[in-house]
Amino acid sequence: MKILITGGAGFLGSNLSEKLLKNGHEVVALDNFRTSLRSNIDRLQDYDGFQFIEQDVIEPFDLECDQIYNLACPASPPLYQIDPLYTAAISYHGTVNSLELAKKNGARIFHASTSEVYGDPIVHPQVESYRGNVNTTGPRACYDEGKRMAETLCADYHRVHGVDTRMVRIFNTYGPFMNPDDGRVVSNFIVQALKGKDITIYGDGSQTRSFCYVDDLLNGFDLLMNASNCHEPVNIGNPEEFTIRELAEQVIEKIDPDLKTIYLPLPEDDPLQRKPNISKARELFNWEPSVKLSKGLDKTIAHFTEVIK
Ligand code: NAD
Ligand code: UDP
Repeated sequence: MKILITGGAGFLGSNLSEKLLKNGHEVVALDNFRTSLRSNIDRLQDYDGFQFIEQDVIEPFDLECDQIYNLACPASPPLYQIDPLYTAAISYHGTVNSLELAKKNGARIFHASTSEVYGDPIVHPQVESYRGNVNTTGPRACYDEGKRMAETLCADYHRVHGVDTRMVRIFNTYGPFMNPDDGRVVSNFIVQALKGKDITIYGDGSQTRSFCYVDDLLNGFDLLMNASNCHEPVNIGNPEEFTIRELAEQVIEKIDPDLKTIYLPLPEDDPLQRKPNISKARELFNWEPSVKLSKGLDKTIAHFTEVIK
């Protein structure tokens, strides 16, 4: 198949591109390198089936394709908050442009939504039927509400135009080819540790996240994309929950036990807990993650060791 991936140079996009190319598909990656390194596509250029288009998804785009993955959007809180109006516009216009192209081509479209649609959740673990607790006017709203609107657009394009949509709600995913400078917690801690710097814990570190290794997530993408009649959002993430302090301890233990932690203020509206209920993915297509945090961290540390040496 010929598959378009918006955000194809990003952390998830470049890993997904590589997986699809290895499976013999043609991949067209569309990106403007807003939050990714240009070098992320170097390894993809080795495949005959790879094509790259440098473009902003806010502008309409046109090409023939059989499937679309709509991934373009900054995902790191510090980066998506730099220009909140642009972030909201990407979610709206980027998703409309992708859906219009899917409609024109009769292509199936897979939209990358997020656990952020649950905001600072009151229901724990988060199940897809939970409608969330987002502060509509806070600094994270440009992303959270943008992603909620994008889900609405997917649902309405399906209802009104019969577009064949899939929606995944991704919970914190990490692994090789994250941008080392994008400020997300796993890459931040590993890069700080490899450079011998203090590890920056925001708040008291008791807030929780559930970390999914990229290979597990992409197996879930594959199963959801190829499941029949699955138009509602599905959580994909690892339900093993860790405090941020525990994550810091693991990274320190693996890289240099003499490293120190420093405590900085908790960003506004930072969710206090997050853990997916993955019953739906289990029931619909028998998915569950298999990579433990310790193993995934080893692989990610090996990648960043090469990148920053
Ligand atoms: P990323 O920042 O590494 O990748 C996003 C890509 O989109 C980058 O290559 C960036 O340059 C590109 N992009 C941004 N704005 C663009 C624009 N206007 N036009 C064209 N390209 C643009 O982040 P990621 O972790 O790979 O996230 C990919 C998708 O998955 C995003 O939609 C994100 O919201 C979603 N997601 C990721 C996670 C996670 O834990 N990694 C969690 C929830 C949701
Ligand atoms: N965090 C931290 N130190 C850092 C980066 C992030 O303590 O250097 C915390 C952040 O406040 C949040 C958690 O780690 O509680 C996850 O942050 P991330 O930016 O990775 O993603 P989020 O899940 O908040 O979107």
